[in-house]
Amino acid sequence: MGHYSLFSLLKNALTGNRHWTPAWRFPEPKARYDTVIVGGGGHGLSTAYYLAKEHGITNVAVVEKGYLGSGNVGRNTTIIRSNYLMPANTHFYEHSLKLWEGLEQDINYNAMVSQRGVLNLCHSDGQRDAYARRGNAMRLAGVDAELLDREQVRAMVPGLNMDNARFPIKGGLLQRRGGTVRHDAVAWGYARAADRRGVDLLQNTEVIGIRVEGGRVRGVETTRGFIAANRVGLACAGNTSRVAAMAGLRLPIESHVLQAFVSEGVKPMIDTVVTFGAGHFYVSQSDKGGLVFGGDIDGYNSYAQRGGMPIVRHVMEEALQLFPAMSRLRYLRQWGGIMDMSMDGSPIIDRTPIDGLFLNGGWCYGGFKATPASGWCFAHTIATGEPHRLNAGFRLDRFGTGRLVDEKGAGAQPNLH
Ligand SMILES: Cc1cc2nc3c(=O)[nH]c(=O)nc-3n(C[C@H](O)[C@H](O)[C@H](O)COP(=O)(O)OP(=O)(O)OC[C@H]3O[C@@H](n4cnc5c(N)ncnc54)[C@H](O)[C@@H]3O)c2cc1C
Repeated sequence: MGHYSLFSLLKNALTGNRHWTPAWRFPEPKARYDTVIVGGGGHGLSTAYYLAKEHGITNVAVVEKGYLGSGNVGRNTTIIRSNYLMPANTHFYEHSLKLWEGLEQDINYNAMVSQRGVLNLCHSDGQRDAYARRGNAMRLAGVDAELLDREQVRAMVPGLNMDNARFPIKGGLLQRRGGTVRHDAVAWGYARAADRRGVDLLQNTEVIGIRVEGGRVRGVETTRGFIAANRVGLACAGNTSRVAAMAGLRLPIESHVLQAFVSEGVKPMIDTVVTFGAGHFYVSQSDKGGLVFGGDIDGYNSYAQRGGMPIVRHVMEEALQLFPAMSRLRYLRQWGGIMDMSMDGSPIIDRTPIDGLFLNGGWCYGGFKATPASGWCFAHTIATGEPHRLNAGFRLDRFGTGRLVDEKGAGAQPNLH
């Protein structure tokens, strides 16, 4: 498999593009691996990559029931940031942002990492105080943050409805290093990089059982037969609770639908990521010109990758509150993904009570930006048997001990996070 470079681009362009090789292999499953990762989304693929790169563990299979990237990694609204208040989150997501910053060189893949900034709007004096506090906490942790006043916001995003809205805009918290990344390229890039280090990517292979004997994991039953492994890592996002139940585990996770929307392409009108502070709405503009946006989860448990009309209406209302000009656009595409909503809104990266079985889940609707750090920390946890200090706050037992990581202070309900 060739190295992508300007030289390979020119060579292939001059020879009719007939010599590109497949980005990864399509191997037959082996009878045994050192480690099996269940789920070929962003987190499963990055875990496999960092297992090979950071820990030299290359006898690894990623078992994916559909095709690589068919889950949330290819369905999200592509926002990355590390603008968190709570220390467990701040340091973890900042590590992720730093990995994003060097990712394309590391995996030799153009993932279109675009640090165009993430601007959280505030609509009341109290909210501005809360943003100042969060911004100060970020700066104390070495993360960039700027508090903008109304005029700075107006100058930065001219299309905003500053004055005549139900919730007038009072300012905003800006993280310039935040931005967007092309979502499915992340899956493809990690897949190719993991494959190059010897990881087997087993697509169209569903895990239908987890074999546990004497309190120890022995491997996974799949639609292509049993695969033995001493270590199994679950990275199944919206299906996490169902797959964990195969090993007899009941998790503090509920599955909900989140929808995304894309408009027709227009000339550049929003060159950053903007989020609404009086509701739940976020928008950016893709390189093709479409406005990419979303809002709240649908609010009922579901495993369907589609959503209902009430949220479509709700999200459109929020869009028009902020950007009245969006009423002139046609909306071309809409889809849903299954969110693994944890009860405190923060993820789990940990061992489980079953020896050799590891868990990565509870990403809610913020797991895309975590993809590099999640894989990096999960690989560390699987390789060493212990969480890294960066994921030490994301233990499974926190729901029993009460050491919750509730960023919003919202309480134990998925639709509040
Ligand atoms: C509409 C939408 C917008 C979002 N916007 C953002 C955003 O802007 N920023 C952000 O940070 N996050 C966002 N998210 C959240 C983010 O996409 C997810 O948290 C993250 O992608 C989850 O991790 P993953 O990539 O590994 O998941 P997935 O890609 O869903 O990977 C899990 C994989 O496990 C596989 N699987 C499940 N069960 C089995 C089985 N039994 N056997 C084998 N394989 C199995 C699935 O097929 C799937 O491919 C959004 C999500 C959605 C749906």
